[in-house]
Amino acid sequence: MARKKRRWWVTGNPNHCWNCGRFCDDTGGCDDCYAVEQRIAQHQAQREKREQLGQLVRAEWLAWAEEQPDVADHPHWLTPWGDLAERNKEVDRRIGERLYTVGFAAAQPPPAASEAAT
Ligand SMILES: [Zn+2]
Repeated sequence: MARKKRRWWVTGNPNHCWNCGRFCDDTGGCDDCYAVEQRIAQHQAQREKREQLGQLVRAEWLAWAEEQPDVADHPHWLTPWGDLAERNKEVDRRIGERLYTVGFAAAQPPPAASEAAT
């Protein structure tokens, strides 16, 4: 687990949590606030990952679209990620997320013989 950042100077008192102000002898803040902070960070990282995966899906779509002989008849095929409607971005995020999950599962090593026997 990542170490807490020393932040007592936010309140100016090393014996109080920098966030909630409760008594706390850890300069990184109390365990409750740290746990909340960690959950927020995980949520944010997950959001950014979904966004990145959605953009990769869209990039692949654009590469496919540019190869199509009738792309001129379908100008919306070339809409870049930034101009997509939110619901279309969400589709790409979901596709990216699903493929990531499948790929991640496929990349896991098989369980060791001793684990499989139990
Ligand atoms: Zn706190």
